[in-house]
Amino acid sequence: MVERSIVKIDEEKCNGCGKCIAPCAEGAIEIIDGKAKIVSEDLCDGMGFCVGVCPTGALSVESRQTLQFNSEKAAQTPKRSDSSIYCNICERDELERYLIPVRHDNDSIWICTKCLPSLIH
Ligand code: SF4
Ligand SMILES: [Zn+2]
Repeated sequence: MVERSIVKIDEEKCNGCGKCIAPCAEGAIEIIDGKAKIVSEDLCDGMGFCVGVCPTGALSVESRQTLQFNSEKAAQTPKRSDSSIYCNICERDELERYLIPVRHDNDSIWICTKCLPSLIH
């Protein structure tokens, strides 16, 4: 066991929507009995890419005692795709553009890096 950053899931807030599954490149999250769960703590690297996509604020990153991250095991987990992941402005998907999760009007949306400046200026 080591002290390190790892994702924390608040099951009271989780509605089981599954939006956090595909953004986790390590395949660490699955929906079990209607709630998001970290299937194996050595798969979560604590980077928190899932945090911004959660519409209910159920995800956060905390520091606690857990298993060491296993990058070899994570590299062997199948990558997930999700048809709901596309830029909400130009509608291009992650195969065409780099996408960033953005919060707006109480919703979590994806915006590509080319469209992002139009929101900033
Ligand atoms: S995105 Fe949030 S609410 Fe949806 S399944 Fe994941 S933790 Fe639960
Ligand atoms: Zn775009």
